Amino acid sequence: MMKALVYEGAYKMSLREVPIPVPAENDVLVRVRSVGICGSDVHGFRGTTGRRKPPIIMGHEFSGVVEAVGGGVKSWKPGDRVVCNPLLTCGVCEGCSSGFPNICQDRHCLGVDLNGAYAEFVNVHERMVYRLPDSMTFDQGSLVEPLAVAMRAANQTDFLLSDTVAIIGCGTIGLLTMLAVRMKGAGEIIMIDTNDHRLAFAKKLGADHALNSQSADAVEAVRKLSGGKGVSAAIEAVGISATANLSLLIAKNGARVTWIGNSQPEITVNMQQIVTRELKVAGTYGFAGEFAAALDAIRLGRIDPLQLIEKETNLAEAAELIGDLANGASNFVKVIVKF
Ligand SMILES: [Zn+2]
Ligand SMILES: [Zn+2]
Repeated sequence: MMKALVYEGAYKMSLREVPIPVPAENDVLVRVRSVGICGSDVHGFRGTTGRRKPPIIMGHEFSGVVEAVGGGVKSWKPGDRVVCNPLLTCGVCEGCSSGFPNICQDRHCLGVDLNGAYAEFVNVHERMVYRLPDSMTFDQGSLVEPLAVAMRAANQTDFLLSDTVAIIGCGTIGLLTMLAVRMKGAGEIIMIDTNDHRLAFAKKLGADHALNSQSADAVEAVRKLSGGKGVSAAIEAVGISATANLSLLIAKNGARVTWIGNSQPEITVNMQQIVTRELKVAGTYGFAGEFAAALDAIRLGRIDPLQLIEKETNLAEAAELIGDLANGASNFVKVIVKF
């Protein structure tokens, strides 16, 4: 038996003893060493998004050590340090075969519709396993997944070296996207949020400007910072009408606007902003080749995602902390569960 946090319904998650999963032919059983609490887990905990159907063990940002392997697994052995891509894709659909596994039509995700890593052990298909370099810590390993999401957002956003880029939303993904666009060669980076704690965090991570869109007119402030024109690229990492509209209003004519936010299916935007100013709005979702690229970016020291960790906890205390994050009692940027 093993300890696992089981999500049982809205605002209900408890530490239980459950059977250790048995690896099938092509599976690898991983002993979890570090797992990140994702904003999407906190949303899922509230029970409003409908993607995580109880009972389920959440947790999709993790690293660990191979404990056992199925009979058909040749590349991995007990003791190997690994980091796992939580996406299990079909490998054959139109999306998969054209290099877009992130939009696979038969896509499953650990911690969403397959049991994940808020547990002592997690079972994964061997295709999902990557070697964690000796030079990297388990905590760095558990940050590869959110960094991959951020790096895809940066890859989807065209801009020239030293162009001004604005990012709306200073959660984990918004902040990692800031580090990614800086690596890509952005000039001034303007971070926007409504939470002063997170804006201060963005500043600490190197944002050139941090604007609170609640206490000031963000459109006017961005115009002022960008020579009256607006920014060359605007990235939205919240996912509601107000911030989607803001991303359009702060973009200069013809600029690229990338949307990562995915909080609700329908929003209302000013379409004329897009049409009459020839804005190029693009969506970005999950990651494709960026998982391996994110692993490299950390290994090479180009990006240090450990800076985002504000709190470490353990499995026994994690449920209460997720509850606090869900009801706003806690406000930590990144929380890591350690074993
Ligand atoms: Zn996540
Ligand atoms: Zn597929």
